[in-house]
Formats: sequence, C-alpha cells, structure tokens
Amino acid sequence: MTDAELQEWVEELSLTRFGKAFRHEARFNPRLKTTGGRYRLDDHRIEMNPKYLPYGREVFGKIILHELCHYHLHLEGKGYRHRDREFKSLLKAVGGLRYAPGLPGQAKPAYVITCLACGKRTVRQRKMQVERYRCGLCQGMLKQERMEG
Ligand SMILES: [Zn+2]
Ligand SMILES: [Zn+2]
Repeated sequence: MTDAELQEWVEELSLTRFGKAFRHEARFNPRLKTTGGRYRLDDHRIEMNPKYLPYGREVFGKIILHELCHYHLHLEGKGYRHRDREFKSLLKAVGGLRYAPGLPGQAKPAYVITCLACGKRTVRQRKMQVERYRCGLCQGMLKQERMEG
C-alpha cells in the first residue's frame, strides 16, 4: 500500500465514520516501533506503522480510527488525550481500537512470517520453526520476525 492509498483510506474513514473531512497528511512511517500509529499535534499529520498491515484491513482500519479520534478532537479543542472522557466516548462510538495490537501488556507477542521468494506475509501468535517449513504458495524459504512492541 502506498502513502497515496493510505491518504485516501484515512479520508474515506473520516467522512464515513465521523462525517467530517480529514484535511491534513497521512503517511506511513516505518520508524515507528511500539505503536500502530500516531497523531502529530504540531502539523496534524497522521503517521501509520506499516508493520501492522499484516494484521489485516479491519484491525489496521481501527488503528486509523483511533488516530482520527485524536485528530478531530484536537482540532475542535476538545479532550483528545487517552484519559479524556471525550476521547474515550468518541473512540467507542466509531469503533476504534483502544490500543494497537502487540503493545506491551495489552496483547501477546506476534510473529510475522515473510516468504523470501514471493513476499507473502502472515501473522502468528506463536513462534514457529521456520527452517522446517516452506511457503504454502511458492515453496520459498521463510523468514520470521517478532512484531515490535
Ligand atoms: Zn492514541
Ligand atoms: Zn512464497
């Protein structure tokens, strides 16, 4: 997924779930480590962690909704912090994720298995002995990485 596609997705979720336009920039930031996304107070940009894409569109979309809650509340001068009542109730109303998956103390560690030949990625809760397996699609060799956070 490209930055432009992410931008479109964020704009669409903003309109359909909040009924409000997202007028700033959304982009991927591969340097994010323990968080699925973040909202920057200074330039109102939303940055998303591409390492969370293997969780699938639904989970990733819910992380975007979380960041959009920060965004809209902050721009409207309302309580945009995690502990604020307005944040909690808006998050619940739009169905956003309270915490990104894989954060310490919130979820079990996850492992991303990547096929070195075709690039297919899957997420597993348990570590596996990748040396013993091959890609189900192309029989390529597999690489295993622990999900950050
Ligand atoms: Zn947050
Ligand atoms: Zn493969």
